[in-house]
Amino acid sequence: MSSEYLLLRAKNDELIENSACGGAVTSILKYLLDEEEVDGVLTLKKGDDIYDGVPVFIEDSEEIMNTCGSLHCAPTMFGGLISKYLKNQKIGVVAKPCDAMAIDELKKRNQIDEDNIYTIGLNCGGTVMPATAQKMFELFYEVNPDDVVKEEIDKGQIIIELKDGTEKGIKIDDLEEEGYGRRENCQKCELKIPRNTDLVCGNWGSEDDWTFVEINTEKGKTLVDKALKKGYLESKNPSEDLIGRRSKLENIMIKLAKKFQKNYLENNYPETDKWDEYWNRCIGCYGCRDACPLCWCKECDLEKEFYKDVNPDISPDPLTFQGIRLSHMSFSCVNCGQCSDVCPMEIPVARMYDKMQKIYREKNGYIAGVSEEKPPIFVPDEE
Ligand SMILES: Cc1cc2nc3c(=O)[nH]c(=O)nc-3n(C[C@H](O)[C@H](O)[C@H](O)COP(=O)(O)OP(=O)(O)OC[C@H]3O[C@@H](n4cnc5c(N)ncnc54)[C@H](O)[C@@H]3O)c2cc1C
Ligand code: SF4
Ligand code: SF4
Ligand code: SF4
Repeated sequence: MSSEYLLLRAKNDELIENSACGGAVTSILKYLLDEEEVDGVLTLKKGDDIYDGVPVFIEDSEEIMNTCGSLHCAPTMFGGLISKYLKNQKIGVVAKPCDAMAIDELKKRNQIDEDNIYTIGLNCGGTVMPATAQKMFELFYEVNPDDVVKEEIDKGQIIIELKDGTEKGIKIDDLEEEGYGRRENCQKCELKIPRNTDLVCGNWGSEDDWTFVEINTEKGKTLVDKALKKGYLESKNPSEDLIGRRSKLENIMIKLAKKFQKNYLENNYPETDKWDEYWNRCIGCYGCRDACPLCWCKECDLEKEFYKDVNPDISPDPLTFQGIRLSHMSFSCVNCGQCSDVCPMEIPVARMYDKMQKIYREKNGYIAGVSEEKPPIFVPDEE
């Protein structure tokens, strides 16, 4: 279907008050639960503080209010959680572009059932690692990170609010020039509006207390129509000016990401003759495999004895380890950055996998998480 644009907002003042924009996402999740269209919804709630985003599967709509709002220091990934734990349930999920891309790749591999899932997308300008955020607030904002009670990204700044109500903002560009700010993967991430979802929500092009929504599928359209009819939401049409503003912002962000890619995937990409230097740091902890949403095999080759030529009790040598993983899934890498985030040896794992996907893309035209067809090399059965 061709895209349809709407401004939506909750018909519930408390919900609007707590939400990131107009509370459209939370209202839709509430509708899904109240009307028993799903068994539960997978989303995020704030834990102890703003650095603590906790994935939650909610089955009772009374609890949905705890999940409102945007957490920028929560670089979570829902794709693997669904394929591992929620495969046989009917669910609604909130999906950043990297979540949406991983979900799509997993659908192609029969690990997620299209008919069991509603995807409510979020535009995404990026996330910040919690530890980086804490250091950054201390160094550049000169505040105690424990005193920060709220954070938001607005007009190119990361703005924080302290316990005493004061606000401070610094331009993201300035922070990133100093090696802080968004994760490397987010800085080079080029899918900003995930149109591979049923509908996608954002603040670009929205008015105060409204959410800008692009409807992408018939399923998404029916869902919004039903939630409107049942009184969970109200709607109005965005002006051409707002639609244009959103598109302009999207294009600026894509251009910035491509510029960053040039730097990190072309200029600073580790030369193949330096690969040993990186991989020799690998301690074979399996962290990158376990965090990767696309490493879904039930029986992993990396645990098979014939690859462990030194000692059957330890993991394969680093080059065999990553060689096998690269050959199994790098063409499907969605640049989510989870592998780099968890690597205890600070190996830029995701940079290498993303680079391999981009080489594969150049040769075959296959864009992981975006192309509708299945990947040309590897299309396994469900098991
Ligand atoms: C990290 C991040 C970056 C964003 N960047 C942009 C941007 O650059 N441009 C833009 O137009 N919009 C961006 N958004 C979307 C925007 O902030 C709002 O989430 C969106 O407009 C929906 O508003 P709402 O009031 O309808 O959502 P709400 O009703 O407040 O619901 C928000 C939902 O998002 C979930 N959520 C919060 N944080 C995360 C997270 N880290 N990962 C996954 N789910 C999460 C919540 O649990 C909740 O279900 C971003 C959102 C996030 C989370
Ligand atoms: S990788 Fe992309 S979609 Fe994922 S959190 Fe970063 S910017 Fe958002
Ligand atoms: S290889 Fe790394 S960046 Fe690529 S999909 Fe897996 S976890 Fe994400
Ligand atoms: S997370 Fe790092 S150290 Fe652990 S197996 Fe992966 S590359 Fe090696």
